[in-house]
Formats: sequence, structure tokens, C-alpha cells
Amino acid sequence: MTMNMADRVEFNLNEQNIIVSVGGEWDQFALANNAPELVGEQVIGLSVLDFVSGNVTRQFLQSLLQLVRSGSRPIELEYRCDSPLEKRFMKMHVSLTLSGQVRFINSTLRIEHRDQACHISKSVQRGKNTNIRCSICNLIKSSHDWLEPEKISAFNTQAHTGLQVVYGICDSCAQQLQKQYLTQ
Ligand SMILES: [Zn+2]
Repeated sequence: MTMNMADRVEFNLNEQNIIVSVGGEWDQFALANNAPELVGEQVIGLSVLDFVSGNVTRQFLQSLLQLVRSGSRPIELEYRCDSPLEKRFMKMHVSLTLSGQVRFINSTLRIEHRDQACHISKSVQRGKNTNIRCSICNLIKSSHDWLEPEKISAFNTQAHTGLQVVYGICDSCAQQLQKQYLTQ
């Protein structure tokens, strides 16, 4: 996909976390990511939590929503939304609207191209060799550190089938949210 296609992707949630509207380039973004099942009319009426993989990530999102709903100002988080050939650096701006909805505005900060495609797929269940991928920064946990997928040794052996991951949140991304709490 090109950078222009995801310059700005928006969605609004009601108080029950149901997606009530999508905007910006949502549909182009869904289609460019081979997810035609996610175009606007299909996701409206569904809970945003249905689209989140992993308990830790779900808790993170719930904390973020709680923070926005209780706070007086918007919060901003940087995150990654990689594709096999691109590292996409994104920013999420989350605010409370006058009518009490939570508005997410996602914009692309920059894109770096990879020389070699990194195919990553979600593991159906967690096994001994399943890798944990941070939902926010997209890094993958090796024994001690969180690394780019191409730096993970298993990637070399699983390059053709794709690296199997489950989703979580790394320490530094969890701290990013905590800092927002402290400055509210
Ligand atoms: Zn992270």
C-alpha cells in the first residue's frame, strides 16, 4: 500500500465501546490490508474489543479508554502497524467528543521499507515456541529483549511459513501509557 492510503484513519466509539462511525481512509486501509471484511459498513455496530487479539492488549485498550473518558485532555500514542514489506510508524490520537464518544484518529508518521518480507501470522494457540509480539510497537520478544522480527533467530527458519505469534504489550509500550496517566 502507499503512504497516502493510510494518512488518516478514524473511528468513533460509543460508551459501550461499539464502533458507531468510521472515517478518513478507513475503507482504503482495510482493502489495502486484504481485509475486505473490515470495510466500514461491516464493522459499525461491533465492539472494538472484538478486533483486539490477546488479553494483555485488550486490558491495555481498556485502560486507554478509561483514561480518555476520565481525563480532560486527549492522549497520544505512537505505535507500529507493519506489513510484511514495510515498517509503518503511526500515531494514535484519542479524544473524548462533546457527545461523549471516544474518537480515534490514526495517522502515518513514516514508512520504512524492508529488503526482505517478514511474514507474521497469529498463532491459534500458544505453544512452547510461540513468539510474543507487542501489539503497539510490533517488536517480538526474544529471550530477554524485544527485537525487530528480522532479528529473531526463529524468523530465519520460519521465513517462508511466517513467524507464529501471540499478541501482548512490551514493557516500554506499557510505560508509554503509564506516562500519559501521570501527566493527566
Ligand atoms: Zn511495544
